[in-house]
Amino acid sequence: MKVGIDLGTTYSAVARYDRNTNKPMILPNSFGKEITPSVICFLDDGDILVGEDAKDMQSNGTGVNAAAFKRNMGDGSIAVSFNGKDYTSEDLSAMLLQHLIADAEKATGEKITEAVITVPAYFNDFQRTATIRAGEACGVKVPKIINEPTAAAISYGYKHASDKTVMVYDLGGGTFDVTIVRISKGNIEVIGTEGNHILGGKDWDAAIVKYVCDQFIDEFDVDPRDDLPTKNELIVAAEGYKKTLSIAESVTIPLNYDGYSAKYTLTRAEFESMTEHLLCATKDVCSDLIDSLNMSWTDIDEILLVGGSTRMPSVARFLKDLTGRDVVAHGDTDLAVAKGAAITAELYCSTATGLRAVQIADVTAHSLGVLSVSQDGSKFVNEIMIKRNSKVPSTVRRQFTVKKGNVTDKIEVFTLQGESRMPLDCNVLAKVVISGFYNRGQGVIIDIEYNYDENGVVNITAYQDGEPLSVVAEPVPDDIRWMGGSPKDRPSDETILKNIAICVDLSRSMEGDPIEAAKESIRDFVHTLASKDTKFALIGFGDKIKVVQELTSDSQAILGSIDDLKVKMVGRGTDASPLDTARLMLSSAAGIGIIVVLTDGIWGKRDAAVEQAMGCRSDNITIIAVGLGEADTSFLRQIATVDAGALFTTIDRLGDTFGTIATAISSGNMGLRTQE
Ligand code: ADP
Ligand code: MG
Repeated sequence: MKVGIDLGTTYSAVARYDRNTNKPMILPNSFGKEITPSVICFLDDGDILVGEDAKDMQSNGTGVNAAAFKRNMGDGSIAVSFNGKDYTSEDLSAMLLQHLIADAEKATGEKITEAVITVPAYFNDFQRTATIRAGEACGVKVPKIINEPTAAAISYGYKHASDKTVMVYDLGGGTFDVTIVRISKGNIEVIGTEGNHILGGKDWDAAIVKYVCDQFIDEFDVDPRDDLPTKNELIVAAEGYKKTLSIAESVTIPLNYDGYSAKYTLTRAEFESMTEHLLCATKDVCSDLIDSLNMSWTDIDEILLVGGSTRMPSVARFLKDLTGRDVVAHGDTDLAVAKGAAITAELYCSTATGLRAVQIADVTAHSLGVLSVSQDGSKFVNEIMIKRNSKVPSTVRRQFTVKKGNVTDKIEVFTLQGESRMPLDCNVLAKVVISGFYNRGQGVIIDIEYNYDENGVVNITAYQDGEPLSVVAEPVPDDIRWMGGSPKDRPSDETILKNIAICVDLSRSMEGDPIEAAKESIRDFVHTLASKDTKFALIGFGDKIKVVQELTSDSQAILGSIDDLKVKMVGRGTDASPLDTARLMLSSAAGIGIIVVLTDGIWGKRDAAVEQAMGCRSDNITIIAVGLGEADTSFLRQIATVDAGALFTTIDRLGDTFGTIATAISSGNMGLRTQE
């Protein structure tokens, strides 16, 4: 059996589509009630009560109670700790679902295999995936989750033959949501959604509490809210008085505290005037949505009221006066969402019968972005890929370029949900690492696809030349404060080991100033880059090769070996290429390999050298070639890994050139600039 479940903050309900009557119908709980309190109670004897029984305990104050846990869905926080066990909201939701499912199975005598579960439209990716997991933890398939206002619109509109644009105004216990939906024959199309998630019926309750306490303070100079149990009792009682005022013109509220007793009368008119600002706050949300969609009130045919708080008569009157539109109450305020979910479950069933095919198109309440660096490079920004109120499913494909000379084999992508350009104002959804692409330092283009599936869940895929790449989710680091700062201050979470082989031309022509300038520049270069993560080797070349210093991170050793460099120590000419020797050294070392070659001449065996350079490239070793004086420009470009990695300079500027190379290496961007 397939059902729809409204997993509510305060109450939940289960419905199925009845193929005999062609209507969704509610499956009552074991108390015969249509809705079940979303409450769980942990008793000292180890028993766990769910639903009606738990709610009873809540009012007696027995055991540890968990209510309204849906508010913390997906945030990983511990909602309840009991008997040494921790429960997250997801765990509690799974327990509640299990209870709802068991009751519904009892009512029908059939096994539930699939459930469409509803979520608030504003639920982000974490909250949605947590809801799906909670369902699956109960052993049912969750073929779909659907937004609550969309479900309400479906249960209202699935039978409507005429076209109309409806604003679903959902004022619940702790949240307010507004959604604009276009209903036409066989289609339910959501156009946009917006909400205020800290505004709801509880604010009306709080107004009553304040009203009586203010008077009590005036009279007796004590505040009943100073005592927590009294305050809680008052909040619960206020909800009852509020409901009474939905049908009666006034209520009498007794209040006993600290030996004082009083009775206050609250009329509906007074109640409405002291809560008018709350209705105005809902109006602002509606107007924002209408404006953001470039619509006006006249585009709305009907306002559909859902959510328990719309039972307050002031709501419909306020909306009617404000907009002049038809305001209709959903006959089934508490059940509309579950019924819409049941219809959706039926639609998702391949053997759907009596229900004519209804198309449902929903939107996303949050923009999906990625962490990027601002144009001027000064800060991290949230670059929006899919705008809020886009139809789902929705996919955007963007190219990501790995610059020439960068030999990285993986790309990190942080996805964000939110509207702000500032990353820390958004939810950092995930960190994914894309790898498995082919990169020979020549620049790489990778296609990354960002997708909202029809459940509003985010997926990322990546391709190189149409071939899918590995995309692996990694935990978002606990400390992401760096996203609020400058990219250059980002702490690297992994140290990149660097191995640098410096190859110096020791042929006769280097004698005198050139070798002195070379030694000086290389010393500065080593000073700049020296760290425990960087190893250097020094190789002299001429007619033969001499390894003056093997790879070492001991900067004293490398600096000492620079002093040992002597022209002609390996012959007068340049017949030998140092690249193979350097390659052998670097390819067996952990980390990235870089060869810096300094030469002032024309080599004897250029073809062999170019071949060795190709070998280095296939081992992902980057070659940077520095040419002094007579050096052969086109040859050096051939051996350098990227064109810009062949730098031509003079004795006077050799220090600067090595400085440029040091900067490039330390920043990890070796797409060097060419110098004259
Ligand atoms: P949610 O979807 O947030 O769980 P509901 O849509 O079930 O909430 O609405 C619960 C809210 O509706 C509570 O604040 C409750 O006090 C309020 N409510 C329910 N019935 C009435 C009524 N007759 N008059 C005024 N408020 C009501
Ligand atoms: Mg609701």
